[in-house]
Amino acid sequence: MARKLAEFSERNMDKSEKLRSLEEEMASDGSLPLRGMANLVFGEGNINCEVMFIGEAPGFHEDRLKRPFVGRGGQLLDECIQGIGWKRGDVYITNIMKRRPPENRDPLPEEIGKYKPYLTRQIEIINPRVIVPLGRFAMDYFLPEAKITRDQGRVFKLDGRLVVPMLHPAAALRGTEMMNLFRESFKKLPNIVSGESAIEMAERALPSASKKEPPKRKRTPQPKLF
Ligand code: URA
Repeated sequence: MARKLAEFSERNMDKSEKLRSLEEEMASDGSLPLRGMANLVFGEGNINCEVMFIGEAPGFHEDRLKRPFVGRGGQLLDECIQGIGWKRGDVYITNIMKRRPPENRDPLPEEIGKYKPYLTRQIEIINPRVIVPLGRFAMDYFLPEAKITRDQGRVFKLDGRLVVPMLHPAAALRGTEMMNLFRESFKKLPNIVSGESAIEMAERALPSASKKEPPKRKRTPQPKLF
């Protein structure tokens, strides 16, 4: 009876309530690695977005402000978002890992594994049409066989969504060649969102998410994106 009631109330929650409840659940989940060592950086942006950016893990500034991509990488991301005529507030930004690994080390596979189910639910609630994994770790979640240097900027169709892996902004900041690749791929996004870009790859399965069709989107128009 209690479970039925909980399921009923979850079905009737709106997106923002569902996200708030997911964040609370994460905050109190004692099995999540790095709890007590770093702040929870859940994600932010337009919950009715067409495009969701997913990075690797918070860094020093993100941990301090509890917001994703607010350091140098975030400045580049903001600049590129504005460069294609969008605003940061048009999109949703989060990470696969929601807490900063010590000394900004790479997240460990078992850490990513623990946070994965929450990301899956976050994606299901937000239900974006296009997902942009930033960097290898985020890309692996969706496309375990892809190679970031080979496949960045390509469009994959996965379970009814488009996935466009891109270099991590921190990698782009390391040299001109990577920066050019990052900027060129970024410029493709408006055409991808408006459906004018060819989907280059055949459908592949998400490794961890369910195979069912994503729920029907309740869209609020976003004139800035089109
Ligand atoms: N790098 C990431 O992958 N995510 C952030 O939020 C900041 C830096």
